[in-house]
Amino acid sequence: MYVCGPTVYNDVHLGNVRTFLSFDVISRYLRYVGYKVRYVRNITDVGHLENDADEGEDKIAKKARLEQLEPMEVVKHYTEGFHEVMRQFNIVPPSIEPSATGHIVEQIEIIKKLLDKGLAYETNGSVYFDVSQYNEQTNNYGILSGRVIEELMESGRKLSSQDEKRSKIDFALWKKASPYHIMRWPSPWSEGFPGWHIECTVMSTKYLGETFDIHGGGMDLKFPHHECEIAQATGANGKPPANFWIHSNMLTVNGQKMSKSLGNSFLPKELFTGNHPLLERGFGPMTVRFFMLQSHYSSTLDFSNEALAGAEKGFRKLSNALNTVKKLSHPGHVPNANAELTDDLMKLVDGCFLNMSDDFNTAKTLAVLFEMSSRINDVKSGNIQLTQLDGKMFNVFKDTYIGFMEDVLGLREEEEHNHELLNGVIHVLIDLRKKARQDRNYALSDKIRDDLKAMGVQLMDGKNGEMSYAIE
Ligand SMILES: [Zn+2]
Repeated sequence: MYVCGPTVYNDVHLGNVRTFLSFDVISRYLRYVGYKVRYVRNITDVGHLENDADEGEDKIAKKARLEQLEPMEVVKHYTEGFHEVMRQFNIVPPSIEPSATGHIVEQIEIIKKLLDKGLAYETNGSVYFDVSQYNEQTNNYGILSGRVIEELMESGRKLSSQDEKRSKIDFALWKKASPYHIMRWPSPWSEGFPGWHIECTVMSTKYLGETFDIHGGGMDLKFPHHECEIAQATGANGKPPANFWIHSNMLTVNGQKMSKSLGNSFLPKELFTGNHPLLERGFGPMTVRFFMLQSHYSSTLDFSNEALAGAEKGFRKLSNALNTVKKLSHPGHVPNANAELTDDLMKLVDGCFLNMSDDFNTAKTLAVLFEMSSRINDVKSGNIQLTQLDGKMFNVFKDTYIGFMEDVLGLREEEEHNHELLNGVIHVLIDLRKKARQDRNYALSDKIRDDLKAMGVQLMDGKNGEMSYAIE
């Protein structure tokens, strides 16, 4: 399985988290039912230009310029931040996590191959993929996204005489670097850098072969990124790269698309601490994980305070039942087990597998787990006696509940919540102290005071405007 990883030029946002969480559950389930999974998820550290286009600045180079850092400092910082967020959400690391800059040689090799096959052309030291030529040979450009070449040709701006591309639907495989561009490598065509799409084709085929089982990513990558990957791989190798394409859908907030420009997007750490105008309070990473699993990966998912509070309650119910069932131990052989009760438990066990095997439907699987939790509570309260149940079947039921909760859905106790919250509080306080040092007249607004109070911080104003605090 290959999943397009993050472009590491800023903090990972919740939309990304949902994507990687969806594929985490998919790989977990495949392993749970016995498949050997090699999961490759890349790090994009070069070649992803602004607006996902062929023109404009490289996202990482731009950040490096603005912050006066080496591009690799930007990459390291945000890669570590990304890994930390993945750890908080209990997302298992991929088997291989290759980076684009680590595969420049392979990218140059495949570009040579596409040039040899007449599917690419060079202009002024840059190399472009010839979409029309490819479509003439294979008749399959648009196979994934349903886009039609003629329509794509008509929409948007026209090519100008300065453009290097022969056609506006062609895309860059290699770009010649301007004298100011800091990320650059030698190639047969120019000193430059690879296009965005070619890295995934190279890394997926290198580690998984020319055709592999599953290719995944966020819905926004379907076109042009994945369509271009199919064209490159099919053009170079003569066969389609993946048997299945899986795309996870986007997040909305109170019914609106989550986006930075609308001011309604929040970072994971803001969600944990509740330190955001749209959030009434913080929610732990496992509550958020549970919340995301409540809808199918291909549906949109709407964030709201009420929905998160509901998820917290639901998660607590399942989590309590998990603790209970772990302590239940069947006495062993029962001569006259109640067949009806036992059958009912087995149906629920089947339900878990049937729903996850039906396009990884976590929403329906959770519904079954809720029913299972009710049975567990029945045993706890004595409504059902363990001696009424067949021992072997009860153990299958118990193992399935534990296995689906922990191994498949990756839910664990929210033990780290307080730790995350404390971390968040400390960050806020460090920020405030910095501001106070820079500006001697800096005063806390009532809003900040209230927020801190809600986080359990007692503020004490001392002499000369000094501030001290205690954390409950
Ligand atoms: Zn990709």
